[in-house]
Amino acid sequence: MGINIALDGPSGAGKSTIAKMLAERLGYVYVDTGALYRSIAYYVISQGADPKESGQVCPLLSRIDVKLAYENGTQLVLLNGEDVSDKIRTPEISMGASAVSAIPAVREFLFELQRSIARENNIIMDGRDIGTVVLPNADVKIFLTATAEERANRRFKELQEKGDSSTYQQVLEDIKQRDYNDTHREIAPLKKAEDAVEVDSTNLSLDEAVEAIYKIAKDKLNPHKDDTIPKKHEPKEVAKIRPVKRGKKLNPIRMFLYTALRLVVKVIFRCWFNLSFEGTENIPKDGSNIFASNHRSYSDPIFIALPIRVPISYMAKEELFEKNVFFTWLIRFFGAFPVTRGKGDTTAIDTSIEKLEMGRNLVIFPEGTRSKDGKVGKGKTGVALVAAIAQVPIIPVGINFEGKLKFRRKVVVRFGKPLRPEELAVKSANPKELKVLKNRIMDAITELVH
Ligand code: C5P
Repeated sequence: MGINIALDGPSGAGKSTIAKMLAERLGYVYVDTGALYRSIAYYVISQGADPKESGQVCPLLSRIDVKLAYENGTQLVLLNGEDVSDKIRTPEISMGASAVSAIPAVREFLFELQRSIARENNIIMDGRDIGTVVLPNADVKIFLTATAEERANRRFKELQEKGDSSTYQQVLEDIKQRDYNDTHREIAPLKKAEDAVEVDSTNLSLDEAVEAIYKIAKDKLNPHKDDTIPKKHEPKEVAKIRPVKRGKKLNPIRMFLYTALRLVVKVIFRCWFNLSFEGTENIPKDGSNIFASNHRSYSDPIFIALPIRVPISYMAKEELFEKNVFFTWLIRFFGAFPVTRGKGDTTAIDTSIEKLEMGRNLVIFPEGTRSKDGKVGKGKTGVALVAAIAQVPIIPVGINFEGKLKFRRKVVVRFGKPLRPEELAVKSANPKELKVLKNRIMDAITELVH
């Protein structure tokens, strides 16, 4: 893990200019996350779709490949291989970015990309939700503000230099509209993280603002009080126990759509298989639970999701997201998130915790791969690690069928009694304790497989 400095604030507060200067001074990588939202808006608009309509935007996401590249320290945005760095800086794309950024699927789409950059580099990342959502454990968090009039003034001058004909009034209105959109959207709204330091740049020159933020970063990162900021950092402890806050409600429109589709799929699955559920009284009514199951087939996540009211999330190998557009959409809808195999478990664990924090249920297959003969394997400790960090109930699940899964095959899905966090006697995430917890979970699953 690199050193992460999160710089959030409203449009036009000077984040990108300041972040660039700071990054240069510190030798860190500058990451402008607004450019990612802008490139999505650019693609959507170029396809003739309306950036405000999630129904038009979401189907396009699977056709978008966005990457950040660096040339002589300057960030370039590559959209499907094309350098769009300049094309995304128009007022039309600014408004489009503000619109697409309110769509949860878009935020989810960009989330992992932002996280992976932060994991691998010392970075200054600027945006709206970096300190609150993308990097809640950032080493330094700054919230940069300025009055709307001052911000409009700066942006107006910038646009004029580029030959844009917008008037000051139009720029001010755009800024106010984007402020409103960014602070009022339901998902990841712009707000100061509790532990962020606020810097008001209204009456500061650029150099003064850079200096102020440099000083804050230096005080935070350098406990020895000499004049340097460290370039390298000890890796952060991954397995710090941080109980997930439960009881978060999911977006009602999404819930409605999910429930409707779940019922349709349930009918189809019941016709296709001879499917029954046992122990459904053990399923908690609310979200943020872990369902730990044996793994028999690609249909397992759907078998488990069908009787559960709150949507599930589960890890799926990256290759599955490269199949066709419909398949990718379907597995994403049912909560799949990609895991890059061979890159270590930390991403998957971070994402799992995020999903639980969002109020979703998390399905984990501790065995990792499907069992061919129906026997329950030993399991990996990843499940215990997530459980130990998140401290949420674990519901064991047993999926039972004979031989291969095929048409009219009798399938019984059993839900066991929840293991409560209090019963999961893990006080720290050390390997010995994790192994004991993992065995306990595997035993509970094995009891349901017969
Ligand atoms: O920072 P910039 O003005 O380039 O961002 C464009 C738009 O992208 C913003 O108005 C905001 O709506 C959205 N955005 C966001 N979250 C981020 C960065 C940008 O919602 N982290």
